[in-house]
Amino acid sequence: MTADIRPRHAGTEARKPLLAVQGVTRRYEGNRQAVTALEDVSFNVFEGEFVCIVGASGGGKSTLLNIVAGLDAPDAGHTLFDGEHVKGPGPDRVLVFQEAALLPWLNVRENVEFGLKLRHTLLADIAAKAERCLELVHLQDYQKLHPHELSGGMRQRVQIARALAVEPRMLLMDEPFAALDVQTRERLQDELQEIWMRTRSTVLFVTHNVREAAVLSDRVIVMTSSPGRVKCEIPVPLPRPRQMDSPPVTGVAMWIRAELQHTGPAGKEPAIASPS
Ligand code: ADP
Ligand code: MG
Repeated sequence: MTADIRPRHAGTEARKPLLAVQGVTRRYEGNRQAVTALEDVSFNVFEGEFVCIVGASGGGKSTLLNIVAGLDAPDAGHTLFDGEHVKGPGPDRVLVFQEAALLPWLNVRENVEFGLKLRHTLLADIAAKAERCLELVHLQDYQKLHPHELSGGMRQRVQIARALAVEPRMLLMDEPFAALDVQTRERLQDELQEIWMRTRSTVLFVTHNVREAAVLSDRVIVMTSSPGRVKCEIPVPLPRPRQMDSPPVTGVAMWIRAELQHTGPAGKEPAIASPS
């Protein structure tokens, strides 16, 4: 991860995508009935982009992220990462989950360094990278604490620092703030925006919170549910930093919500959080 050197690109049409999801379908054979979690899902993500996927609960978002991470495989279609078929997990794609899975016997710093050690990073580099990532998430002063001594927000910060430390080419975030209280969630959204402005990491971020998507993304992919399909893509060309309650962010959030209104199964209201 290098600060502020990657160029941002104006158009997306002519460039080769970093991630290309092409016609992905995933069915689960249940005991009583089969579920089509994803049906013919296609989209691209370009280097340096922050893309949010928004859809109702049970709409196949985690399934999609697991497929991109290489933890699950589609029944039809394929996923290309930097032009190569995704065949399994790799250090170029790191998943950040809703609940931080930290190692309880390691302190904050050791948790951040853990992934680097697994990758046989040079000792001097481990120290420098851990230092920089702890600073990015504002945990420099909490390095010696253990997970049980941390709040939920701090545990998510450690998880984000640990993911950033290994410098993946793409961060995959699956509703990382969904379990946090509103104040902590908004604070972490601001911090993630600040981190992204400094690192320009490529991020694929799943949420069902429309305001979160509006404040964070360059582009929002709206999904239908049952089965999960791409309904539309909404570009978000607003300057950063963005304020959560600003009129433009509110406008985009309302647009996303309007697109979601009719995406649920016939006759059912979609299970979507309101933007307020
Ligand atoms: P989301 O993350 O959008 O809430 P999921 O990807 O978790 O949605 O799930 C999509 C659908 O696939 C749901 O109906 C869910 O019950 C089903 N599903 C997900 N994982 C499995 C599994 N391992 N076995 C059977 N059904 C599953
Ligand atoms: Mg999910």
